[in-house]
Amino acid sequence: MIKKARPIIGILALQGDFEAHKRAVEGAGGDPVEVRTKSDLDHIDGLIIPGGESTTMLKMLAEEDLFEPLRQFGRVKPVFGTCAGAILLAKEVLNPPQNSLQLMDLVVERNAYGRQIDSRIAHLEFGGEPLEAVFIRAPVIRKAGGDSHVLVSYNGDPVLVEQGRHMASTFHPELAGGAAIHRFFVEKVSSSGKRKIA
Ligand code: GLN
Repeated sequence: MIKKARPIIGILALQGDFEAHKRAVEGAGGDPVEVRTKSDLDHIDGLIIPGGESTTMLKMLAEEDLFEPLRQFGRVKPVFGTCAGAILLAKEVLNPPQNSLQLMDLVVERNAYGRQIDSRIAHLEFGGEPLEAVFIRAPVIRKAGGDSHVLVSYNGDPVLVEQGRHMASTFHPELAGGAAIHRFFVEKVSSSGKRKIA
C-alpha cells in the first residue's frame, strides 16, 4: 500500500489564534506551517485563516502585499476561514460593508449576536458526533448561496459551510476540544490533491 504524505496546511499567522489551529491540524493528520509572506503560499497544500479581527487582518494583508496572492491561492487550493477568516472569505460583508477575498458565495454580517453576548458555547453536532462550538463576537451567515452546502446550523443559521474546496465556520473549531472539523478540512485538502498545478 502506498503511504500518503501528510498535507501541508498553512495557517495565516498575521494576527489571531493561529497556535491553537496548529495543534488541531497536527491532531488531524496535517503538517501545519505558519504563513506570513506570499512566498510561504508556494509551499502549502491548503490554508486556514484564523479568527481575530477582520478589519485588522485586512489592513495587515494590504501591508504585507498578501491580499491578491491569497485570492489567487484560493482559486486553485482549499481555504478554511474561521470567524474573522469566514468574514474574509465571504463575497459580501455587512455591518459595516468591507472588502473581502470573495472566494465563497456567502453574505456575512459581522458581530451579529450583539454586544451583550460577546461569546457563547453551543452544543451542536458534526458528523454524528457532539461538537462544542465556541462563538466569540461571531458573525452570522445571512446567505449561503451557489453550490455551497451547510454542514452545521445553529438557531437556523449556517455556522459551518463548504463550497467546493473551501470551508467557513462562524465559530472557533480550534477551541472545540476535538479535531473532527480540522480532519474534515485536511481530508478535503488531500483529496483536492492539486499540489502540482499551482
Ligand atoms: N468580530 C470579529 C470581526 O468582525 C470576528 C471575531 C472572531 O474572529 N472571533 O472580524
